[in-house]
Amino acid sequence: TRTYAAGASTHEKVAKFHGKKGSDGLYTVSLIEGDGIGPEIAQSVKDIFKAANTPIKWEPVDVTPRLKDGKTVIPDETIESIERNKVALKGPLATPIGKGHVSLNLTLRRTFNLFANVRPCRSIAGFKTPYDGVDTVLIRENTEGEYSGIEHVVVDGVVQSIKLITREASERVCKYAFQYAEEIGKLKVRAVHKATIMKMSDGLFLSTAQRVAKDFPAVEFDAELIDNTCLKIVTDPTPYNDKVLVMPNLYGDILSDTCAGLIGGLGLTPSANIGDECSIFEAVHGSAPDIAGKGLANPTALLLSSIMMLRHMGLEEQAVRIEKAIFETLAEGKTLTGDLHGTAKTHEYAGAIISRL
Ligand code: NAD
Repeated sequence: TRTYAAGASTHEKVAKFHGKKGSDGLYTVSLIEGDGIGPEIAQSVKDIFKAANTPIKWEPVDVTPRLKDGKTVIPDETIESIERNKVALKGPLATPIGKGHVSLNLTLRRTFNLFANVRPCRSIAGFKTPYDGVDTVLIRENTEGEYSGIEHVVVDGVVQSIKLITREASERVCKYAFQYAEEIGKLKVRAVHKATIMKMSDGLFLSTAQRVAKDFPAVEFDAELIDNTCLKIVTDPTPYNDKVLVMPNLYGDILSDTCAGLIGGLGLTPSANIGDECSIFEAVHGSAPDIAGKGLANPTALLLSSIMMLRHMGLEEQAVRIEKAIFETLAEGKTLTGDLHGTAKTHEYAGAIISRL
């Protein structure tokens, strides 16, 4: 189990794992393999977890959208599986651009009220990027902002898209950011915003963050404008290593890809969608249609997401074992996928990790 950092207060963690071990000694996890490269990278996770004797039983679930009363919905069995297991590992799901069904990723986040999206980003030893030692963590509000899906045509050629910010969702994610900061021992939280322009919406997010900060005297708090953060983080990311960044939805989406770029790309960055009852773990990247089906995908991001999942479930020992094998394989640099300038196929890279378990 994880310990709280020295000097941290004993605030109850917002999100706990409520799942139970079955009579066979295994935990069941809902598995959404997803689209594009999803099945290929999910296979690597399954192979590595099996080789490491991880006490996980996968329950594959289908998220092919169905129409119900004119609305796109996720199949009931899928919802029930995640409700039952309390935890899911998810591959990427493609969303049609500008038309077609609503984003199933958003539907899942809303259905399970997965209010905080945690996106850590750490440099990989052995893989050279302009900055070594990047170790950022960003928490993105996951349920509203520009992602609220409230859009309409005003007149031909004019559309309106509503950015929704509520005190409730802002408070929930900011509180989680402070609790997470205490949990991982980075005792500084920075709210990232644009309240100079969006005085009301981002203003509410910022004032809520300031108010929540008062409940966490052991954690330092400050705030920064999003454009300023973008400039500074690509100029020198190291000052961000000791902080937890918390921000509205769209800023988190964009800034986390910026951070991914700093360490070698989207093949490396994991995430956790945290809710009070259920949590879903997934890579930051999408379905990568340009390389799907070719065995070229880097499964590291999904693997590191599955390690975040193991930690969330209290399976620290297994998490450390697999994580160590991944980082050793990457550091050795002999069996890397194309995005990391290697020539290994997805399964060869997974095999190299297995050989180090
Ligand atoms: P993408 O993340 O799928 O791909 C961007 C680039 O990164 C591509 O060149 C791709 O080849 C590369 N890449 C991504 N993951 C990689 C990996 N694991 N290994 C090696 N290279 C990798 O972004 P996109 O092309 O903008 O989106 C494709 C689809 O994915 C869209 O339908 C989008 O809606 C969806 N999407 C889903 C999620 C999700 O499920 N959470 C997130 C982002 C995008």
